[in-house]
Amino acid sequence: MNETLTDRSFSEIAAQLAGYDPQALRVDLAQDFIRQLLPRPTELERLPLRSALGRVLAADIVSPLQVPAHDNSAMDGYALRAIDLNPQAETRLRVVGTSLAGAAAVGPVGVGECQRIMTGALMPAGLDTVVPQEFTRVEEGWVIIPPGLLRAGDNRRLAGEDLALGSVALAAGRRLTPSDLGLLASLGLGQVQVWRRTRVAIMSTGDELRAVGTDAQAQPLPEGCLYDSNRHTLWAMLERLGMIEVIDLGLVPDQPEALRQAFERGAREADAIISSGGVSVGEADYTKRVMAELGEVLFWKIAMRPGRPMAIGKIRSGEREALLFGLPGNPVAVMVTFYAFVREALLRISGAKPEPLLMLKAACTRPLRKKAGRTEYQRGIVSRTSDGRWQVEITGNQGSGILSSMSQANGLVVLGHEQGNIAAGDAVDVLPFEGLL
Ligand code: AMP
Ligand code: MG
Repeated sequence: MNETLTDRSFSEIAAQLAGYDPQALRVDLAQDFIRQLLPRPTELERLPLRSALGRVLAADIVSPLQVPAHDNSAMDGYALRAIDLNPQAETRLRVVGTSLAGAAAVGPVGVGECQRIMTGALMPAGLDTVVPQEFTRVEEGWVIIPPGLLRAGDNRRLAGEDLALGSVALAAGRRLTPSDLGLLASLGLGQVQVWRRTRVAIMSTGDELRAVGTDAQAQPLPEGCLYDSNRHTLWAMLERLGMIEVIDLGLVPDQPEALRQAFERGAREADAIISSGGVSVGEADYTKRVMAELGEVLFWKIAMRPGRPMAIGKIRSGEREALLFGLPGNPVAVMVTFYAFVREALLRISGAKPEPLLMLKAACTRPLRKKAGRTEYQRGIVSRTSDGRWQVEITGNQGSGILSSMSQANGLVVLGHEQGNIAAGDAVDVLPFEGLL
């Protein structure tokens, strides 16, 4: 998919986005812009079911059979003809034979007769209704059914009621879920065609960073240094997407040659590169310069908090080309910009049709200061009130370097671009981490 990045120029894309301003870019416009840079996947693979969880279906799954294959009983009881039931008084039917699940249908069953039947057993020819055994009395080969209990067709599952022959059971672009694997198995399909994994190269830039070792105890850090956390959050968020192959380009110092080598390797080996750090305004480093040298890159200031500076574009190495997401360095900003921009983009280039993220409305426990004109993502702890409603409390320090606030929180409170101050008790949108992280 490397060669198929859109051939429209950035200025053409920008010209079509009303209100495009790279110095104060609205979140929704940045998302629209990015959507237009995205290539479609081209490479397929066929996988056994157990290897396909989270992978993206490359073609519709058309049901090769009907599920269930035949009419069958939903209960343990007696299969009968509804027309034999007396609506005013007890009905007595003679029991002839038994239908067991997994066995061929038995019959025939005459007028005034019924058959003992187990859940999942085929409905005997001519019988249309099942009375659950707990509603009946049995007397020496006869079953007695009270009046007014049943309508024709009760407790009978119809052939094809789950999946009709030839219907689209799962649509292309779907990320396979646990129920999907079961559904594929119910169709008799042991393999499935998916898009190949999207290759994403990650790197951290900054001379102050040190890589964590494999020791149980932290090693002492030189003064002014800190451990690189961003590659670990990025790796984990990418893993959770379920269809990403991560290429770790490591920790790259602020040296032009090292940066150039890392970005070029990313362009050669990956479909997308995610870097963190070095894209802020007025930074004394080489990251931006090297990015601009190796491809077509825009440096945006996004009207959001956290996560204002971001680089977006394409990096080239010879014939190869990769999308670039140059994220800010602050650890919370990395996570928020990933969810705001990168996640959906990666799903799309992986062939997935992204579903809208599930949001919940929760009452904010305290007033919040919020400036209209930017989107804010605050870390929140959602809980249930005693009367069963959602409420959200903002975690303490909202600084973009306070990664512990992400670990404390169970969701992001998303305050939209136009939104102003929030009063205590106002409903706000929360993006729960469950299902996202
Ligand atoms: P930058 O965007 O490069 O100016 O970085 C902003 C802040 O984020 C600085 O305080 C950096 O030390 C910090 N930072 C940058 N990269 C990382 C990283 N990989 N892990 C943890 N903190 C980082
Ligand atoms: Mg830096």
